[in-house]
Amino acid sequence: MGWTYDPTNIFARILRGEIPNKTVMETPHTLVFHDIRPQAPVHVLVIPKGAYVSLDHFSAEASEAEIADFHRTVAKTCAILGLTGEGFRAIANTGENGHQEVPHYHLHILGGRAMGRMVDPG
Ligand code: AMP
Repeated sequence: MGWTYDPTNIFARILRGEIPNKTVMETPHTLVFHDIRPQAPVHVLVIPKGAYVSLDHFSAEASEAEIADFHRTVAKTCAILGLTGEGFRAIANTGENGHQEVPHYHLHILGGRAMGRMVDPG
């Protein structure tokens, strides 16, 4: 479908161990780490280890094992971080209109406070 992955992006460098991260948990297919500029008391990023640009790329081309592992890891992360009861927000900024800055698929998980309205009315 025409996705082109840039292997020099910062999350690819984290996955190669070239720059450090504050890991929450890791599986064979998925890594979870703290966002470097947290926007809530809890702000972590869940990323696949595979070379996927975005949510739609991952959803179209990742294996069933990768997709299952990713979502099981989201659930474990929410439990580890104490978000399961009081809730959280998950965000996948995608492409230009979605204001995605890092071109490696990542799911933001934010919580620890009420997160307000879903979308800035602009
Ligand atoms: P997005 O706009 O959805 O692409 O968000 C990219 C996110 O990556 C931002 O929230 C940044 O704070 C975060 N980020 C950028 N570099 C790092 C890094 N080295 N470690 C952890 N988080 C990072």
